[in-house]
Amino acid sequence: HSKEQGRNTYTFFTHKMNNDMHRRLQLEEQLRNALKNNELEVYFQPLVDIRNRSIIGAEALLRWHNPELGNVTPDEFIPIAEQTGLIISIGQFVLESAFSAAYHWQIYYNRQFKIAINVSPKQFRENKFVDMLTTLLSQYDIQPCSVELEITEGVLLSGDQIINSNLTAINDIGVNISMDDFGTGYSSLSYLRSYPFDTLKVDKSFINDITVDPGDLELVGAAIAMGHGLNLKVVAEGIETEEQYQLLNALKCDYGQGYLFSKPLPKAEFEALLDAQHQPK
Ligand code: C2E
Ligand code: MG
Ligand code: MG
Ligand code: MG
Repeated sequence: HSKEQGRNTYTFFTHKMNNDMHRRLQLEEQLRNALKNNELEVYFQPLVDIRNRSIIGAEALLRWHNPELGNVTPDEFIPIAEQTGLIISIGQFVLESAFSAAYHWQIYYNRQFKIAINVSPKQFRENKFVDMLTTLLSQYDIQPCSVELEITEGVLLSGDQIINSNLTAINDIGVNISMDDFGTGYSSLSYLRSYPFDTLKVDKSFINDITVDPGDLELVGAAIAMGHGLNLKVVAEGIETEEQYQLLNALKCDYGQGYLFSKPLPKAEFEALLDAQHQPK
């Protein structure tokens, strides 16, 4: 009996491995042509001022629509882009799309409009990253202080010298650096002390239950207080309900993002939100 079970488990695993491997190869193959085939699009999710819910900026979030695979989530394709090195060209496309949109929004709506962009470890380890960033900033006429680069602990983990010098160089040109998914990694606290962060984004897994879990509420309150103590702005990710919003407002969180305000939207739809906000009342 146990032998049989063993064999079934074995068959199950090989099937699963085959399926996973097949999917992975398929994704990789399709991703290689995604840019050239115009399958990638940058969406924008509003970043709001907690005090009055006004939109003060956006986070650029990449979307991939493939004719064969349908919509593939970034959680699935970003790691593949990272492992294959495709993230270098894809990351540059995200920066250009985000800057080109932000340029218009800064002119038409708000000169201080903030644009936040996710940067992954391989991009950050590139020698040319800061040169490329500097070139794009001037090409798209974007003020460095309106840009926020979001990095996760994964970027810092390697401890490479290049990471350090890139962070310093980015800070020197006046671009802001934000710690994304704060609280989900191993040693966020020491990183916050050692690197020039401007913003801390509290992960949505902590925001989820703040209305029902006193422990989570306590942790979020402590993260906000600590961020402020270190002179950082604090963003709460994944705000979905009015109750969560009220608590975060009471805790003096600076900014918020979440479905309560809006999902990530294509450029034109995001612009419609900005239009509505700027209609004379
Ligand atoms: P992230 O940077 O932490 O982005 C926040 C994620 O939370 C986004 O998922 C967003 O759509 C989602 N979100 C926002 N508000 C809510 C909410 O109220 N409820 C829930 N349930 N989710 C909410 P998305 O767009 O699927 O992106 C997932 C991750 O993929 C991002 O996490 C980021 O790490 C990565 N990613 C996305 N775009 C890019 C990119 O252009 N470059 C790189 N390197 N990574 C990216
Ligand atoms: Mg992010
Ligand atoms: Mg995050
Ligand atoms: Mg994330």
